[in-house]
Amino acid sequence: MKYWSEVAKRSTPYVPGEQLNDPAIIKLNTNENPYPPSPNVQEAIKQEMNQALHLYPSPTVDSLRQSIAKQEGTEKESVFVGNGSDEVLAFAFMGLFSPTRTIRFPAITYSFYPVYANLFQIPYEEVPLTNNFTLDEKAFFHTKGGVILPNPNAPTSIFTSLEKLEEIIQHNPDNVVIIDEAYIDFAPESAIALTHKYEQLLIVKTFSKSRSLAGLRVGYAIGHPNLIGALTRIKDSFNSYTIDRLAIVGAKAAMEDAAYLKETTRKIIQTRKWTQEQMEKRDFHVLPSATNFLFVQHPDYNGEQLYERLKAKKILIRHFRKSGIENYMRITIGTDEMMQQFLLVLDEIMQNT
Ligand code: PMP
Repeated sequence: MKYWSEVAKRSTPYVPGEQLNDPAIIKLNTNENPYPPSPNVQEAIKQEMNQALHLYPSPTVDSLRQSIAKQEGTEKESVFVGNGSDEVLAFAFMGLFSPTRTIRFPAITYSFYPVYANLFQIPYEEVPLTNNFTLDEKAFFHTKGGVILPNPNAPTSIFTSLEKLEEIIQHNPDNVVIIDEAYIDFAPESAIALTHKYEQLLIVKTFSKSRSLAGLRVGYAIGHPNLIGALTRIKDSFNSYTIDRLAIVGAKAAMEDAAYLKETTRKIIQTRKWTQEQMEKRDFHVLPSATNFLFVQHPDYNGEQLYERLKAKKILIRHFRKSGIENYMRITIGTDEMMQQFLLVLDEIMQNT
C-alpha cells in the first residue's frame, strides 16, 4: 500500500458477476442477451476493420450520436456516448453531482452507484424501498444534491411509472435527476420524452442488454445540451477517444436495425413470462419483472445454497449477500432452451435438498 494514492485507497471496487470461459456453462448471471447482435453489426465492423483501423476515431462521435438522436426523437447535441453505460454513469457522477451536496438513490439498486459516490467523494443517502420492493417516490423529493435510480430497478426488476418519476423530477428543480434505463426496452415505456420538458433530467441507456452488444462496450446519455456539455468536458479532460472505431460503427448498425431489436426483445419477454409461470408453479415468489431477468425467492430453500448448487452443475445465476435480499436469486432470461435446462437442473437440486 506504500505508493497508493488517497483516491486508490478510497475506492471500493464493484464486484461484477463471474465471467467464466467454459462453453458448457449456461450463463444467466449478468443479464446479457442470449441472442447475437443484428447481422448488420458484423458487416459494419468488418468494413471498418478493412478500411480505417489505422486512423483515430472521431472524438465527437457525430455519426453515432446522430443515429441515436434520430431513433430517440432528439437532437445530436442532446446525446453523449461512452464506453459502456458504466463509463457514462461515472462521468455523470463526476460532472453532475457535487462533493458538498448529498444525493439519494434506492437502498437496493445497481451496486455501482455507491462505488462511484465513494470514489468521487459524493455524500449519499440510501432510500429504503417499500415492503414489496417498489419505489417510494416521495422519499426522493427535495434532495440537496440530486437523484440517481434505475428504471426498471435492478436487481429487483420492478418498473416505476413515468407519473411517479415526473413527480420526483418536479420536486428536484435545481438538482440533476439521472434515470438509468439499462433495461427499458423490456419495460412499458421510456422517460426520454421528458428530457424535452425538464433540463435537469438525464437518461442513461446501454447497448449491452436489448441490443446484444455487452462485449462492444457502448452506452449513452440523453439530456439537455447543458448536461451533455458537462459530460463532454469530463470526457475531453480524460480521454477524448473513449469510443473506438469498431464500437462506433457496430453500435450505429445496431441502433438502426429497429426490426431486429423488436423481434429479439419480443422473444425475451415471451420467455420471461413462461419462466415466471414455471417458477411460480414451483412455489417461487417472483417480483413483477419489466427487465430481461427475474428476481425470485423460495420460502423453503436458501437462495445462496441454490446458487451454489446450480453453479456446481454449470448454471450461473446471481446471488447478492446484501441485507434484505439475501434469500433472493437474480436469473437472466436466456433462450427457451437455456431456461428449460435451467429448470431441469433446478428441479433435480430441489428434489435432492
Ligand atoms: N446500469 C444498470 C442498472 C445495470 O444493471 C448495468 C449492467 N450491469 C449497467 C448500468 C452497465 O451496463 P454497461 O456498462 O454494460 O452499459
